[in-house]
Amino acid sequence: MGDHNMYYNISFDIAAVLVLIVIAVGMKTVLYTDTPGHKNVLRYVYAVMACAIFDIITAYTISYGYMVPDGLNMVLNTLFQYSSVLCIMAAMQTIINYYPSASKTSVMVNRGLIIILIALLTLNAFTGILFSFKEGVYVHEPLYMSAYVMPLAIVFQMLYIVVKNRGDQPVVVSTIVVLFLFLPSVYTVIQMFIGNVLLVAFGEAFSALIMLFALETPDYRKLMRTLSDLDIARKEANTANRSKSDFLANMSHEIRTPLNGILGMNTMILNDSTDPRITEYAENIRVSGDALLSIINDILDVTKIESGKMEIKDEKYKLFSVLKECYQMNRFRAEEKGLEFVFEEDPRMPSAYFGDELRIRQIINNFVSNGIKYTEEGTVKLKADFINDGENEGTLIISVTDTGMGIKQEDLESLFDRFTRFDETKNRSIEGTGLGLYITQRLAKMMNGSIEVESEYGKGSVFTVKIPQRIADPAEIGEFEKRLKVHVSVSGSRKIVFEAPDKKVLVVDDTKSNIRVFTALLRDTKIRVESASSGFEAVDMTKNTKYDLIFMDHLMPKMNGVEAFHAIHDDEDNINHDTPVVVLTANAIVGMRESYLEEGFTEYLSKPVDRTELLATLERLLS
Ligand code: ADP
Repeated sequence: MGDHNMYYNISFDIAAVLVLIVIAVGMKTVLYTDTPGHKNVLRYVYAVMACAIFDIITAYTISYGYMVPDGLNMVLNTLFQYSSVLCIMAAMQTIINYYPSASKTSVMVNRGLIIILIALLTLNAFTGILFSFKEGVYVHEPLYMSAYVMPLAIVFQMLYIVVKNRGDQPVVVSTIVVLFLFLPSVYTVIQMFIGNVLLVAFGEAFSALIMLFALETPDYRKLMRTLSDLDIARKEANTANRSKSDFLANMSHEIRTPLNGILGMNTMILNDSTDPRITEYAENIRVSGDALLSIINDILDVTKIESGKMEIKDEKYKLFSVLKECYQMNRFRAEEKGLEFVFEEDPRMPSAYFGDELRIRQIINNFVSNGIKYTEEGTVKLKADFINDGENEGTLIISVTDTGMGIKQEDLESLFDRFTRFDETKNRSIEGTGLGLYITQRLAKMMNGSIEVESEYGKGSVFTVKIPQRIADPAEIGEFEKRLKVHVSVSGSRKIVFEAPDKKVLVVDDTKSNIRVFTALLRDTKIRVESASSGFEAVDMTKNTKYDLIFMDHLMPKMNGVEAFHAIHDDEDNINHDTPVVVLTANAIVGMRESYLEEGFTEYLSKPVDRTELLATLERLLS
């Protein structure tokens, strides 16, 4: 049965090696992707390359067996066989990748067959049951055919897996996979009969090509397509989010304008009414109107925060005025509920800081108003403290303690989520959107601060905010409550205290009712109010009369407020060219204030105009 000096044709093997080198270099460079499929193809390519190289080497060592020791020939031929086992294993990995529903049993059967094959080859190296070398001659031993039959059996078992689980892949892919498995088998069978032309490695190199271009590359392309789809989707989502923000900002503008009218007119009723019944109705309108306004403001804040447009200012402010305002805003409600409302502070803490007064007030107000809302009896206490960390900076610590209903331990986690409200049944009558704490926490984070909550259900809660602030004025804040009592007794009443009968202001607004509201708000100050209903009219009027202050609406037809402002301000001959101008707008979009001040306006008031804010502005600009 010996093959005496058989000479093999290795040209197909050489072609295979060249093709494989090209594939491997391509896969390492231009075709590189970091996917398991890619790695597996590469593994297959290397295995086939090893196979082809050993095929070439053994073709020589067998042909010139008389020059090679039999042991070395056996080692080289065994290595050749092992390398084809590696090819089979890589092929099987591909099958597992593509057909995930392949049963565990069939995978086990495959592993079993491979182990048997390896065992046979290893056994052969010592016993020569498949093939052997006798004095330089390659001898086919009785089990020789099993070196071909076993790999074929394994490949057929893989084909079986593919056919059985073909549902995992589209028909095209399954067809390609069958071809991928089938080709080397065809070559193997041909070689079994032709014998001296070495075709198997060539068939396998062909399979590698199929695997790469027909199976892996489409996946890669699919991946790229998916990535670009994702990118488009992300852009669309951003645009949608932006238009949502714009929509909400516009809506708030649209809602604030009529609300301005309603609340302003209502203030007139509250001021003028002598009938207690009417006063009560109007008071109810005020409460609901304020609630509506605060909901709109909350929604607007969330929109700003989520679109990244919330800006944190760094300006000098007095802590006392923040606390005073908070006290004024909440004390009536605390009194109504019969709650004790106390302030406690370290009288030696600095009086002024650099930071965002408005946002700090918003946080404190949220704590205090929640404290009052969710407490039926007892005390709501605000405590302010400052810890020096350095020469000019430190941490402002404000805590609000209540003796109210408290929060369950399990609810604390979601306390700061949007729209979260607890005890819905108990709290049905309490107004709220569940946005307050969400906004509060985001604001604190933006100021590099933090919020802590301690609460015992049924007993009460403590909300603490800590914010790093720089000191603007180290002068001590002093006995707060005393100062507060003095202030509040002067300005706490609803009636106006500010009077300036010798001053004259001009109000410019194209909406008649806005002018009426504005005039009414100023009535008790005895200030003389003149009005213009368009930008042109305002420009005309300012040429003849000197005003102490001008209030200018922004959105007006034909000539808007900004244009009218420039027509007055930029005209050196206009006697009002340096009169302070306050812009009025329902446009509560972020950054607006800054852009108005950049235009040259002296101040910015948002509609609906808040009476206290208006009076404060007048007091500041007219004195
Ligand atoms: P809102 O008060 O508008 O519902 P918040 O975000 O301010 O929204 O608060 C969310 C929820 O947390 C409230 O609905 C309430 O259930 C609970 N909560 C907040 N503060 C307190 C408090 N001081 N005592 C008890 N529960 C509170």
